[in-house]
Amino acid sequence: MAPEVKYTKLFINNEWVDAKSGKTFETCNPHDGSVIATVAEGDKADIDLAVAAAKAAFARNSEWRLMDASQRGRILNKFADLVDRDSAYLAQLETYNNGMVCSFSSRFVGGASASIRYLASLADKIQGDTIPSDGDTFTYTLKQPVGVVGLILPWNGPIAIFINKVCTALAAGCTAVVKPAEQTPLTALALAALLKEAGLPKGVVNVVNGYGETAGVALTHHPDVAKISFTGSVEVGKLIQQAAGVNNLKRVTLELGGKSPLVIMDDADLNIAVPYAANGVFGHQGQVCVAASRLYVQAGIYDKFVEAAAKYAKGIKIGNPTDPTTQHGPQVDDVMFKKVLGYIEKGKQEGATLVTGGKRVGTTGYYIEPTVFANVKDDMTIAKEEIFGPVQSILKFDTLEEVIDRANNTNYGLAAGIFTTNINNALQFSKHVEAGTVWVNTYFVFGPQIPFGGFKESGIGRENGMMSVEAYLEVKTVSMALPKKF
Ligand code: NAD
Repeated sequence: MAPEVKYTKLFINNEWVDAKSGKTFETCNPHDGSVIATVAEGDKADIDLAVAAAKAAFARNSEWRLMDASQRGRILNKFADLVDRDSAYLAQLETYNNGMVCSFSSRFVGGASASIRYLASLADKIQGDTIPSDGDTFTYTLKQPVGVVGLILPWNGPIAIFINKVCTALAAGCTAVVKPAEQTPLTALALAALLKEAGLPKGVVNVVNGYGETAGVALTHHPDVAKISFTGSVEVGKLIQQAAGVNNLKRVTLELGGKSPLVIMDDADLNIAVPYAANGVFGHQGQVCVAASRLYVQAGIYDKFVEAAAKYAKGIKIGNPTDPTTQHGPQVDDVMFKKVLGYIEKGKQEGATLVTGGKRVGTTGYYIEPTVFANVKDDMTIAKEEIFGPVQSILKFDTLEEVIDRANNTNYGLAAGIFTTNINNALQFSKHVEAGTVWVNTYFVFGPQIPFGGFKESGIGRENGMMSVEAYLEVKTVSMALPKKF
């Protein structure tokens, strides 16, 4: 049964409000394209109200600014308790709105509450330094929240990314306006309701659903927004960095796309490497920024590997994402569905060998078979562009040095992986590959304590870990004269 949709309006000042324009948009279930709910469509006028609310909540002497840092942590811990209480509902809503298989969405919600608790623990650990300055002076630093932040979210991990960005901002003491992706507005609204229930003062977090070109653009241009944290495509990331300098000078952190290389050496244990490589690119239907979308396999095991990879892909269970045994659900919407099928056609046209998959599954919804291409060359479109779908492109290489150069021959630099039983291969690769995250004999290791972000055009800054909070803080240096050095 479909989960009840409790919230469809905008969330401003802890109240549910219609868009000023009265406009709404429909949000759908990728399983069959059916409409789940009609949601308020915010634009510039609503962003202005939300930013004003966040600005008032950040004012000197406001409840939020006077609150003890430890109390901020307690509110976040309460929020984590509420996310745990509603975890089954939240996971179900994510699955209905996004198509994420339910075994994944429940794990993500569990991981999200662990993130909240980690970030809650940082709230009262934000400290400056005392500095031995020259002369008769005493110098110390204060770390202070940057102010109102704009948080712009993608559709592929709505709960996890909402929680990560919002709770980092709150741990730092900022106030926020969140703009969820237009494809997946529902879980952000459900989480906003839980923040209110946890006791967050009004205006501290506001959620404005709407489109990127209207609500998103208004947020990134707003003069009262001090920082933007964005997760999404490189294309939009570049627009955001430009917008950040138009009306003021916003701090910007960007978590963008990838074309992550995964290298399988001749000496790897294939019983481990084959399933990891498959899950690395087919997990969440390939809609993962760190998808292992360039799979480099060493020549000595290439044919054997391709055969095993195809067998594994054929065995993946496709079906309704609400079924707990389903491993592979639909793409998020018609746009992505057509885009991925277009890439598969391109792969065939450019001469890659289609080993398995390549077609739509069924006649409703946005299902695509897990697809394996062999004999892929570095200059083919499927080896260069982010597909964001279930397409495994297998390339051949001879030496480690060669594959490091080929892995780095891209503007992306998000993640990379290597399977090898030789420690020297692992160390060489990890040192020289240009990526923010490297996995050795594993893939998809994430955690609230583990910094995450990209080299090159995959982003700016890091999320997770102690350093994530720093991106929401200003450092203020205070020097005072002393009557006498001591
Ligand atoms: P997208 O860039 O199309 O949209 C992301 C968000 O930006 C949406 O909320 C959208 O409404 C908004 N937006 C669009 N145009 C805008 C504009 N001009 N100004 C302000 N906001 C605007 O990305 P998507 O399709 O939602 O997500 C998929 C992309 O996100 C992929 O490239 C993927 O790799 C990337 N991603 C990266 C990470 C990471 O952590 N590095 C995580 C998840 C997804």
